[in-house]
Amino acid sequence: MHSIRTNDLLTVENLKTYFYTPEGILKAVDEVSFSLKEGECVCIVGESGSGKSTLALSILKLLDESARIEGRVAFNGKNLIELSEDEIRKIRGNEISMIFQNPQSSLNPVMRVGEQIVEQMINHKRMDKKEAKSKAIELLREMGIPDAEKRFGDFPHQLSGGMKQRVMIAMALSCNPKIIIADEPTSALDVTIQAQILDIFKRLKQKGISILFITHDFGIVSVIADRIVVMYAGRVMEKGTAVEILRNPEHPYTVGLLDCLPGTSEKDRLAYIPGTIPSLIEPPEGCVFSPRCRFRFDACSKTPPEYPVSDVHSVACFLFSNEVNG
Ligand code: ADP
Ligand code: MG
Repeated sequence: MHSIRTNDLLTVENLKTYFYTPEGILKAVDEVSFSLKEGECVCIVGESGSGKSTLALSILKLLDESARIEGRVAFNGKNLIELSEDEIRKIRGNEISMIFQNPQSSLNPVMRVGEQIVEQMINHKRMDKKEAKSKAIELLREMGIPDAEKRFGDFPHQLSGGMKQRVMIAMALSCNPKIIIADEPTSALDVTIQAQILDIFKRLKQKGISILFITHDFGIVSVIADRIVVMYAGRVMEKGTAVEILRNPEHPYTVGLLDCLPGTSEKDRLAYIPGTIPSLIEPPEGCVFSPRCRFRFDACSKTPPEYPVSDVHSVACFLFSNEVNG
């Protein structure tokens, strides 16, 4: 048994993020709960449209006024949801930083990449410019950017996609955050570059940085996750340690996602889950996955609670209620 770290650094409790749209209330995140411990990587996984990005953006209050956020995001004894814009800005990019899928859109195209890292450090930390510059170069080097000193002066368009993502990670690290939230950070990259970037995340974990890693790709999850939260249509379907979920997935949705991985099933088939994510404005009654589920039965017209599978694994599915099983 490896040692169990029990100190939760970030706790998300009953988080709800609803968008008030002209068509109605869109429940993008609905009663989501999970926690992130020191030095671990929690992967949020689910198909496109499951509410993963909305969840990430809600944690740092990066959504516009059409979003109503309710619940608790506990960090350092505070509920981040209740913080004012000034207060949350001190945390963003400083104690908790975020990396997005497309580094191009997060970088200022007319500013040298090194200067952008320096600016971030000067904004959050009392640091003089010279000190910040040498730390920025050091970070670029650590991120595997060759000729870091020279690259410091490059503009974003002079760098490849992979190099830009390395710059973004360097920037995210510049203020020594406790947590990095990465939303599909490798999805726009070639497979080989993807593997290199995942290696960087593994190293960060070893340094004690906690990572909330968002992806639709269970292949990536299997490489990097310590714990997994499976989301579908704004809700948590299953969560637990990576070991348990990868070896013993219980929710029909998780099983379906894992079956989609090439090379995992006996016949190397590329399975798929028929159907698509429902409208989140008028989601199905009861279990949101039930319209696509081969195992649906009467009970599924109600919303399933989370049933424990073990003390480190739970599943929101009536197939696992004692009444049904016993
Ligand atoms: P994922 O990241 O898992 O693909 P998203 O969080 O991007 O999912 O989207 C979840 C749902 O919320 C989708 O139905 C999407 O259309 C909707 N959504 C996302 N952002 C907004 C917004 N700003 N306004 C209205 N609806 C949104
Ligand atoms: Mg997304």
